[in-house]
Amino acid sequence: MLENRVYNFSAGPSMLPESVLTKIQGELLNYNGSGMSILEMSHRSKTYQEVFDATEAAFRRVMKIPDNYKILFLQGGATLQFASIPLNLMKTGKADYIVTGSFAKKAAAEAKKYGDVHIAATGEAENFTRIPRQEELNLRPDADYVHICFNNTIYGTHWDYIPDTGNVPLVADMSSCILSEEVDVSKFGMIYAGAQKNIAPAGLTIVIIREDLAGYANEKIPVVMDYATLIKNDSMYNTPSTFPIYVCKLVLEWIEELGGISELEKINKAKAKELYDFLDSSKMFVNPVSAESRSLMNVTFKTESDDLNAEFVKAAAAEGLLTLKGHRAVGGMRASIYNAMPREGVTKLVKFMADFEKKNG
Ligand SMILES: *Cc1c(COP(=O)(O)O)cnc(C)c1O
Repeated sequence: MLENRVYNFSAGPSMLPESVLTKIQGELLNYNGSGMSILEMSHRSKTYQEVFDATEAAFRRVMKIPDNYKILFLQGGATLQFASIPLNLMKTGKADYIVTGSFAKKAAAEAKKYGDVHIAATGEAENFTRIPRQEELNLRPDADYVHICFNNTIYGTHWDYIPDTGNVPLVADMSSCILSEEVDVSKFGMIYAGAQKNIAPAGLTIVIIREDLAGYANEKIPVVMDYATLIKNDSMYNTPSTFPIYVCKLVLEWIEELGGISELEKINKAKAKELYDFLDSSKMFVNPVSAESRSLMNVTFKTESDDLNAEFVKAAAAEGLLTLKGHRAVGGMRASIYNAMPREGVTKLVKFMADFEKKNG
């Protein structure tokens, strides 16, 4: 491990694999014999085009993305997609949203500016502690799409099933779980994610879209948001986020070296299980999420006392376990254990929690 490196449990931007950081460092000043840094390179250069093409090809391999889906490398975060989605996909002006947390709610609020938005289910009354079951979804068969947030970063919940939306395309925000588990892309019309949690540094947004869904944009849409234009120009209608795309390539190669997403999923399940098993046995810390809806990526927990929570976060930081404070909407603590968090980080956290409980219990 790099000297002085901590375990950073930040929800995002978050840890990158150490081997990727070392590789970036080694290549930073002179990329592949070009005599310049990748940071300085034109996105239209042959050398950069190779990086870009390799990134796209690796994404397709790693996520097993079918040929009739396009991958876009964009900017503006998942938040810009909250507006891009209705502006592109509202063919007839109506969409269904399932509200399972803060980001799902923000996505619905943004879409409401552009059309008829129906909330097909909301977990707000239960403080978003579980994902609604299929029979609780009040879906409209004539909606243009159904929007879900597949992993709820703040509340620590995750869809344990893919909802059946009939012929209505399913659109999923996967910002905090993309590349963490195997997903059947063909079940979705569109998948999108900000990169800064599981893919790359901040400044890149990935959109994976079924080709036939593009081309129906509102005529007033800003051109950089129009999926058809972006597809036609291979994500280079304007300058893409060149450096994060390069890091994305290195992260995808790291996943392939590990044995692909199926292997990563096993590791992620083992990491999450270690933490949830401890929480279930603890008399001090509790996790409020229903068992079937627990996230593999964001684990929330708290003690009975705000003072004790604050003390925990401070004492953990002194041990090199950083950024464990929960989101202000939930309070308590949150451990984000994305792909790049080593198993050792989780084990160290669990041991620290057990010691803290003994001392303060
Ligand atoms: C972080 C996050 C967002 C916001 O992403 P930005 O890149 O900041 O726009 C949206 N949705 C989910 C699920 C997130 O985790």
